[in-house]
Amino acid sequence: MDQKTKIFLTLAVIFAGLGLLLIFSFQNLGKFRLIFCDVGQGDGMLLVSHSGKQIIVDGGPGTKIVDCLSANMPFWDRTVELVVATHAQKDHIEGLLEVLARYKVGMIAETKVNNSSELYRAWQKAVENEKAKVYVAKAGDRLSIDAKQGQTLSIDILWPDAQRLSQWQASPPSDLNESAIVLRVNYGPSTSSGFCAYLTADIPKETLQGLIEKECQILKIAHHGSKTGTNEEILNEVRPRLAIIQVGKNSYGHPTKEVLDLLRSKAVKILRNDTNGIIEIKSDGRTFGAKSAR
Ligand SMILES: [Zn+2]
Repeated sequence: MDQKTKIFLTLAVIFAGLGLLLIFSFQNLGKFRLIFCDVGQGDGMLLVSHSGKQIIVDGGPGTKIVDCLSANMPFWDRTVELVVATHAQKDHIEGLLEVLARYKVGMIAETKVNNSSELYRAWQKAVENEKAKVYVAKAGDRLSIDAKQGQTLSIDILWPDAQRLSQWQASPPSDLNESAIVLRVNYGPSTSSGFCAYLTADIPKETLQGLIEKECQILKIAHHGSKTGTNEEILNEVRPRLAIIQVGKNSYGHPTKEVLDLLRSKAVKILRNDTNGIIEIKSDGRTFGAKSAR
């Protein structure tokens, strides 16, 4: 081998190594990431499994969600494994239209509870065009997302229950929030131990209270910190270490003083998108760390 070939081969190995390193560090493989995107007044979350599968829960109003996806997904990855639309209100599904337009989606989870708005019709059309598998979420189901390297990522559907769901599909509740999909995300060596997070959409506290079966480190506060979504019983049952409030500039008074005071009285750390920007939680299946833009 002459000198030139040796140098060329050495450089090739170094570049290949750097490339791999870049890919792995960019994807943060080996850990579960739960990202609360800064979508303004609304909910929009990106979940990335330890082997790089993406799940999106709600898309906020407008199209800010896609900036969040671009910043947190490898540029060559144009597929999202699962999109969950918790309920058909603008601050939860408007941005999902853009997600469906830009990404190839494997499965869409929704309630099919129709609020006969123009936005809902646009959503139905977008879902049809996507040709993804459509899953109607109902309580009691468990979605297995990823099981590699001895760690499993699963999603438990806690709400709506099947009976209510079929009633609401025929005739929607006056408050669509009541029919929203509530999830618990579990990550760890088994579903009974490890890390978990409640993703509560805009569900009323009276409903949420009955859905908590175990403690979790993370509680996404329901309904942007409205007093309709959180009470002391919920906090006593979840015993969260960290509460996330997905909230932006609004005229509803979200988050309310009642909810903030309640969280403080229980010494729960609070991170909120309006003051902290994008929030990222990373877990190895036992512990977790959180960081935010501000
Ligand atoms: Zn909302």
